[in-house]
Amino acid sequence: PRIAVLGAGAMGSRIGAHLFEARYAVVLYDSWKDHVAEIQRNGLRIVHEHSARTLRIKAANRPLPGEVYDYVLLLTKSGQTEEALAGFRDIIGPDTHVVSLQNGIAGIEILPRYIPKERILVGVTTYSSDLLGPGAVQIGGSGITYLSRLSGGSSPAVDTLEAIFNAAGFQTVVSEDAMQVIWEKLAFNASINPVTALTRLNAGEAGTHPLGIELMSSIVGEVAAVGHRLGINVRTDEVMNQLRRACEPEACSDHLPSMLQDVLKGRKTEIEALNGAVIRLADDFGMDIPYNRALYQMVKMLDEIKGLS
Ligand code: NAD
Repeated sequence: PRIAVLGAGAMGSRIGAHLFEARYAVVLYDSWKDHVAEIQRNGLRIVHEHSARTLRIKAANRPLPGEVYDYVLLLTKSGQTEEALAGFRDIIGPDTHVVSLQNGIAGIEILPRYIPKERILVGVTTYSSDLLGPGAVQIGGSGITYLSRLSGGSSPAVDTLEAIFNAAGFQTVVSEDAMQVIWEKLAFNASINPVTALTRLNAGEAGTHPLGIELMSSIVGEVAAVGHRLGINVRTDEVMNQLRRACEPEACSDHLPSMLQDVLKGRKTEIEALNGAVIRLADDFGMDIPYNRALYQMVKMLDEIKGLS
């Protein structure tokens, strides 16, 4: 199968690199010219613990003429999704499956406006990665990736991608319940991200402090309540267990969650696709979710005053 990564930043480069090393035909597409030029000139540099390797992987900052793909792995930040789909629409053909492993609910909110639901795959991953600069990424934690069809059930396309990811070293499982997978990750991210971004504590510090756990539990409870109104079985105990595990030292608890990294680097965060999306739904239901609203308001101020897009 032919695979494109659309948005080859931290995660897109990591996933693209593993696929490339497993000998899949993969192209990295990204609108960031310096990054693409560096990969074209000197290769993609992958830093892992104390070693580094350079991969001669194909990269482009505009659609390569006549090239369409079986899978387009969408890994821009959520807020960049529409622009990326517009700029790279030529790489998506009538049989292409678009796969979102983005955090938040871009995959279920935005993609169906552009791609037929049957050709949308969504997923979540506990893998992580950091961008070091143009052409260079640092591999972070591993774990598990869940894939699902947005329209539910199984299909050869999702089974094939599961096999490809596993062959490339990503432990991957197909889940029948896309909504539960996405909403539980949403609850996880909507709590750990703004709490660490606002306190400037890393995951381990925030998630092992009794007040940190209490605050995250309040946020998770509110997200789950909105999910339940939509008929989605968001399991708060499961999310809290995942948070506790992510904050243990063995799980790279010194890792800085992406929203904290964004705030520290003065970049715009994904707050709109996380707590912002939950608040919009809560408003529709006339529900009050004060913890989410307060954190949203504080991060949004940072975004608007300091955040670069
Ligand atoms: P990133 O900012 O490092 O990468 C995004 C890339 O998209 C950038 O290289 C950017 O240049 C590119 N881009 C922006 N606009 C574009 C456009 N119009 N066309 C083409 N390319 C465009 O972000 P990231 O950390 O890799 O995160 C990507 C997604 O994965 C997010 O939704 C994030 O929440 C999720 N995620 C990240 C991690 C992680 O550890 N980094 C882990 C799990 C999930």
